[in-house]
Amino acid sequence: MTDTLVALPTPVRDVFDTVQSRNPHEPEFQQAVHEVLESIAPVLEAHPEFVDGGILERIVEPERQIMFRVPWVDDTGRLQVNRGYRVQFSSVLGPYKGGLRFHPSVNLSIIKFLGFEQIFKNALTGQGIGGAKGGSDFDPHGRSDAEIMRFCQSFMSELYRHLGEHTDVPAGDIGVGAREIGYLFGQYRKITNRHESGMFTGKGVQWGGAEVRTEATGYGAVFFVQEMLAVRGSSLEGSRVSVSGSGNVATYAIKKAWQLGATPVTASDSSGYVVDDEGIDVDLLRQIKEVERGRISEYAARRPGARYIEGARPWQVPVDVAIPSATQNELDADDARALIAGGVRAVAEGANMPCTPAAVEAFQAAEVLFAPGKAANAGGVATSALEMSQNASRQRWSFDDSEARLRSIMKDVHDAAFDAAARYGRPGDYVVGANSAGFERVAHAMLAQGVI
Ligand code: GLU
Repeated sequence: MTDTLVALPTPVRDVFDTVQSRNPHEPEFQQAVHEVLESIAPVLEAHPEFVDGGILERIVEPERQIMFRVPWVDDTGRLQVNRGYRVQFSSVLGPYKGGLRFHPSVNLSIIKFLGFEQIFKNALTGQGIGGAKGGSDFDPHGRSDAEIMRFCQSFMSELYRHLGEHTDVPAGDIGVGAREIGYLFGQYRKITNRHESGMFTGKGVQWGGAEVRTEATGYGAVFFVQEMLAVRGSSLEGSRVSVSGSGNVATYAIKKAWQLGATPVTASDSSGYVVDDEGIDVDLLRQIKEVERGRISEYAARRPGARYIEGARPWQVPVDVAIPSATQNELDADDARALIAGGVRAVAEGANMPCTPAAVEAFQAAEVLFAPGKAANAGGVATSALEMSQNASRQRWSFDDSEARLRSIMKDVHDAAFDAAARYGRPGDYVVGANSAGFERVAHAMLAQGVI
């Protein structure tokens, strides 16, 4: 694990000990569980029935974990074998729901941490969706369209039997965008002989996808920042914003920051970051990353005034607001201290768990507004639930209508986290607030549904 963890209070210590001994080589999963257990102590004090009902022992163990072989043939005729995963964590509030990640770093620990977080994030949206995550250690970078298609078809040839609109509904995540979702959905349709729109979200808008789903995670994170700043009587207008990443979440966080009067000045990929004091040109960024599938260094090469810094992350750049939107543990305590020294006022996690525990602690100690991913990036999965609603009722909502719904969901997520933090004696602590509000909903439903 990246940081030393603080001691847990009873009664959660025993539960965490079991998690550690049962999942010994899974540091990210342990980190995600620890963060939740650490912050829900006041909920457990107020609700002894959650402890007596064995909620904790059950919630840390996935309902089902699927691992499978994904064989495919590359363009040179060579056989390749990857590993596929789907961890179905909790279906107590609705069908399993969560994205698929294709990235060489994927392993069981990563998928379990993401699936565990997804339970509480999805509960927080109030949309009736359970928690799951899946993916593969397949690396889509540098692969041809034909290779991507063959991989997706092989992946779905196994996973299809575990999916369904009332069972488990995947979506995208890192490395899984419109192209991959098309191939995955196509193969499911062929194998099952069903055009079951609601079995996948993030589909193309021409064939059952929802308006705003592509933009939703990034837009939602910026809406969340807006809500946090409003509580302190301030706004995004005129502020400088740093964003890491250059995928879907980062691109649309940058776009919405512009629309709300801020200047987004950074973007990054795994090789380095660019800083553009005039503000990031979203069209150029999209051209390089989405169309050409190139590197972020290209941005600086084509944009006068922009600089490329290799092998570093954008946290040394002084800003008012930071939105880490790349990947887990990309912002550590040193980065947090640099942002604080630069005058940062608010940090919102666009990615899942991008800040290490020590970074979160540093932000909170410095009274920087801090929004955990479970709350700040919940707009993506919430809009997936809107896509499922439209598929079920065969309706299509307009872009403006869908964005207004997202806006209002993000306000509700903010208020649920804010109110829970105040109720449990930690006003302004969005980590305690988001975890407590999400956990309460899941725990009540688990108690009501018996020992399952
Ligand atoms: N992968 C996204 C997340 O981390 C979206 C999941 C979904 O839409 O199902 O929440």
